Amino acid sequence: MRPPPRVTITRRRLISAALAAGSMVSLGGARRALSQASGPFSLPPLPYPEDALIPVISSTTIGFHYGKHHRAYVDNLNKAVEGTDLAHKSLEDIVKATAGDPARVGVFNNAAQDWNHIFYWNSMRPNGGGAPNGAIADRVKDSFGDFATFRQEFATAAVTQFGSGWAWLVQGQDKKLRVVKTANADTPMARGLTCLLTCDVWEHAYYLDYQNRRPDYVNAWLDKLVNWDFASRQLAQ
Ligand code: FE
Repeated sequence: MRPPPRVTITRRRLISAALAAGSMVSLGGARRALSQASGPFSLPPLPYPEDALIPVISSTTIGFHYGKHHRAYVDNLNKAVEGTDLAHKSLEDIVKATAGDPARVGVFNNAAQDWNHIFYWNSMRPNGGGAPNGAIADRVKDSFGDFATFRQEFATAAVTQFGSGWAWLVQGQDKKLRVVKTANADTPMARGLTCLLTCDVWEHAYYLDYQNRRPDYVNAWLDKLVNWDFASRQLAQ
């Protein structure tokens, strides 16, 4: 008998954040409608409509990125964990359990890409971007000196990540915020860092809209899409 869909604490937090923003009406219905999952994991609904990020990201890009790429990671993960001891673990636990294990790199890639993409969709919102306010603004100032320095570091990480990967704002065990970049499916979460924001710099995230102009995508992402409310909710106290 198929086990019920598993929802990790992190996934639950991401989804509840989107619900709090009034962007999803029916989680259960939407999950069933969006994914005929043949395994423990399902494609969670986007926290906004596919055309909500225009003009920075087109609905065509979101349609392929979310509907094809992200869905494929979920489908492949379900196939990879079927009949294994991982089938009953949370998504976050699978990422941590398989990170750095050459024998399970396929499972890691699909699990981490599922987790990273959920985090990416929530790192953006319509009419976002610019400088943060409140407690997270103070943390950015304490860690980077000022917002402009953070912005420059993040943009540089996103633009200079060679090939496919991700730029991240993370919080370390010392509570200090840092910018890091990861290649392919790699994720700071696997190393115990608290992730606050991520920008996907795989070509599938921007090529239909920006072709080779990754810096234009990154700058527009920082100026118009960053969801600082989401980042604030991830902060460890
Ligand atoms: Fe992607």
